[in-house]
Amino acid sequence: MSTVSNHNNPEQSSSINLTEEEKKVWAILEQVADPEIPVLSIVDLGIVRSVKIATSSIPPSGGGGALITITPTYSGCPAMDMISTNIRIALSENGYPNVEIYTVLSPAWTTDWMTEQGKEKLRAYGIAPPLGKSFDQKYLEDLKVECPQCHSNNTKLISQFGSTACKALFQCNDCKEPFDYFKCH
Ligand SMILES: [Zn+2]
Repeated sequence: MSTVSNHNNPEQSSSINLTEEEKKVWAILEQVADPEIPVLSIVDLGIVRSVKIATSSIPPSGGGGALITITPTYSGCPAMDMISTNIRIALSENGYPNVEIYTVLSPAWTTDWMTEQGKEKLRAYGIAPPLGKSFDQKYLEDLKVECPQCHSNNTKLISQFGSTACKALFQCNDCKEPFDYFKCH
């Protein structure tokens, strides 16, 4: 496992005093893919808010306990059950059979929590990452979204909704490729 990536997630970046064990759990969580955008991990998206190691519940056998706090990207997101299950599986396979997962809805998840690494992965996947800090419709129409294929800024909005509600469909005027833009919210 290489170095832990830069996180712009406020809670993560303030956690400069992570223990070795907490770093290990973050690294495991970086391997848990988002069910809707499998190229992104739940850490890339900023879904994982905090990791705490429950030292008191670690049994003598060495099996660890971990408390994970997550915030869904959309309230009522049907993928959240799957994310919780995948977190449990990943941690259990890596020596943390006792996992508690708290879901926190406030403050609401925002694209601002997506890491730079996550935005890079999105672009490489062919989805333009979110620009700016908040989403409004007029802003979207005026937005100069860079084409993830040829990097041209000569693109146009085709539809407010792309393959899912959280994306808009754009088309590049240069290479003519349509592409999804991950909307800010
Ligand atoms: Zn293009």
